[in-house]
Amino acid sequence: MFTKVNCKTINRIGKNSHAVVIGAGMSGLLASRVLLEHFDCETIIERDRLPQQPETRRGVPQANHVHTLLLQGQQILEQLFPGIEAELTTGGAPSVDWSSEYYFLNVWGWASLSPSDLITRSCSRNFLECLVRKRLSSYTNLKFITATQVRGLVSDESNSKITGVQISSHKESEEQLAADLVVDASGRNSLLPKWLEKIGYQAPRQTVINSFGGYSTCWYEVPENYQADWKGIVVATKPPQDKRGGFLCLVEGNRWAATAIGTAKDYPPTDQDGFMEFLRSLRTPLIYEAIKDARPISPVYGYRRMENSWNHYEKLSKLPEGLIAIGDAVCAFNPHYGQGMTVSALGALTLDLCLREQLQRSPDSLRGLTKRFQSKLAKRLKNPWLMTTSEDCRWETTKGRQMNILTKLMHGYMDQILLLSVKDAKIYKKFLEVVLMVKAPQSLFAPNILAKVLMHSLDSSTVPQQTK
Ligand SMILES: Cc1cc2nc3c(=O)[nH]c(=O)nc-3n(C[C@H](O)[C@H](O)[C@H](O)COP(=O)(O)OP(=O)(O)OC[C@H]3O[C@@H](n4cnc5c(N)ncnc54)[C@H](O)[C@@H]3O)c2cc1C
Repeated sequence: MFTKVNCKTINRIGKNSHAVVIGAGMSGLLASRVLLEHFDCETIIERDRLPQQPETRRGVPQANHVHTLLLQGQQILEQLFPGIEAELTTGGAPSVDWSSEYYFLNVWGWASLSPSDLITRSCSRNFLECLVRKRLSSYTNLKFITATQVRGLVSDESNSKITGVQISSHKESEEQLAADLVVDASGRNSLLPKWLEKIGYQAPRQTVINSFGGYSTCWYEVPENYQADWKGIVVATKPPQDKRGGFLCLVEGNRWAATAIGTAKDYPPTDQDGFMEFLRSLRTPLIYEAIKDARPISPVYGYRRMENSWNHYEKLSKLPEGLIAIGDAVCAFNPHYGQGMTVSALGALTLDLCLREQLQRSPDSLRGLTKRFQSKLAKRLKNPWLMTTSEDCRWETTKGRQMNILTKLMHGYMDQILLLSVKDAKIYKKFLEVVLMVKAPQSLFAPNILAKVLMHSLDSSTVPQQTK
């Protein structure tokens, strides 16, 4: 059976144009918002039933863990959904000044704090995703088809163009949904490489860099009258010896999400006692001290699929027209740096840009869009990829580790930045701007910072005692 979605004709990308998005995770939702500007109508296909309230669902198990929306991600979300920041606030998401309200224990000591405008709303992934979904559901030309799985691509006779997807809500029944553009946003476990092979294309080469990390997270009710001058605590791991770290953050509903982080296979336990013991064993027991008398309101959730993996669609010499891959389906990161949703937002903006260019090049066709988009997206992925993987490469046991002279220089330079961050609040702020993705890593090489780093590294007497 071939279902043709009935669209109102506005004539943007062609007449009666229809885009299909696979997956209602953050990248699917954000891409959908952008597609609404360019297509007459749109369908999001999601294999889960989507809850009305903020709840974890099967397809996004990582939502049980801390999900930080970086400043750049927040800015893009506000651009796509004006007023969403205010809605987060109304929903109880506290505002957090990263440079004064997060305690950060880096490898050298506690970072030097001072107030700044690096402020984000701190919320759970479930709350954020639910808000975005609600915003999208107000568009009458956008339809969600839920509890339905995409099982493959439909292509034209020559397999040069994707013309739709095969979907099924039950194992036995399968139908096809026609589309002018198919966007794969089905996440880390995307089957797109296999679907492409099935219609005669090569699967993309994949780069995997795995430091074998794991999270265990438990949610707590913040005790009544709890007083602290922080809203979050970050305890970084310390290669090569200390594989353990932790994260505590205040989110909506007066809750804390406490995460134990293990690297190089030092996986944190998922039983309550083991979890607490792990947090107590960190270089500082501050997170443990905060939560030890708080009431847990969830089990301890574990997660171990943390590798960085990049499907290089941009390197394929041939790709069918009418197809885009986005989000974790292209590049998934070790979540240590909290980049995933922000990179999804960047992907959505890149798609918008490419579609605008497309309209100028050839208003009635999507020819060339696939290759242009995947290549532009790859350029945007370079910096976040470099940041995460270069840190993961500090562990000798990291699979796919590439240690060249550049990585070693980067490590040395970043060590100096972290060391300076302990004494110099201005440098710490510069570092945070990069972490929050509002500045490129290259900004840390600005002449004034470079000069400080060089002077500091020449004066060995300024190196403080490392914490434990
Ligand atoms: C433990 C952990 C912690 C993280 N912490 C952070 C953080 O702090 N900050 C941050 O920004 N990012 C974080 N991330 C990353 C973040 O979750 C993702 O990068 C981000 O959600 C974008 O993912 P996505 O939408 O591409 O894929 P997903 O979120 O995985 O969504 C994919 C969707 O596609 C659906 N789907 C899959 N296959 C099909 C199919 N065949 N048919 C129909 N539907 C399908 C799934 O059900 C799901 O809804 C974390 C990740 C993990 C694992």
